[in-house]
Amino acid sequence: METILSKQKNALTTQTKRLRAKNVENLEKAGRYEEAAQECEKLGMLEKAGQLRRKEKEITVLPVDVNGLIRQLAVRGQTLTYHCCHCGAPLKVGAESEEVFKICPNCGYSLEVIDLAKLINQHLS
Ligand SMILES: [Zn+2]
Repeated sequence: METILSKQKNALTTQTKRLRAKNVENLEKAGRYEEAAQECEKLGMLEKAGQLRRKEKEITVLPVDVNGLIRQLAVRGQTLTYHCCHCGAPLKVGAESEEVFKICPNCGYSLEVIDLAKLINQHLS
């Protein structure tokens, strides 16, 4: 009896997992990568979550080509300090750090990549 019950329970879990994986697929199709990544994390699909986050980063960054601007800074050996518009924490970008913070490491506020692009543009011109 106990075995049958646990079998049923397992089957249900597998089904739920399948449904949630399908949900991830749909979120990905809709371009809601962050939500899809969070869902992946809950399902223990950490690698997939990472892929989705990188995908989102690429898509967000490409239109303004912040990466290109940062590379220009790095080539010049310059590092630009900018501040989080929410808490004022100093963030560095350029030769010392080519990573773009999408989220402030200090307060968690979501930062506008476009603002950073404008700032670097001003500096370069
Ligand atoms: Zn902040």
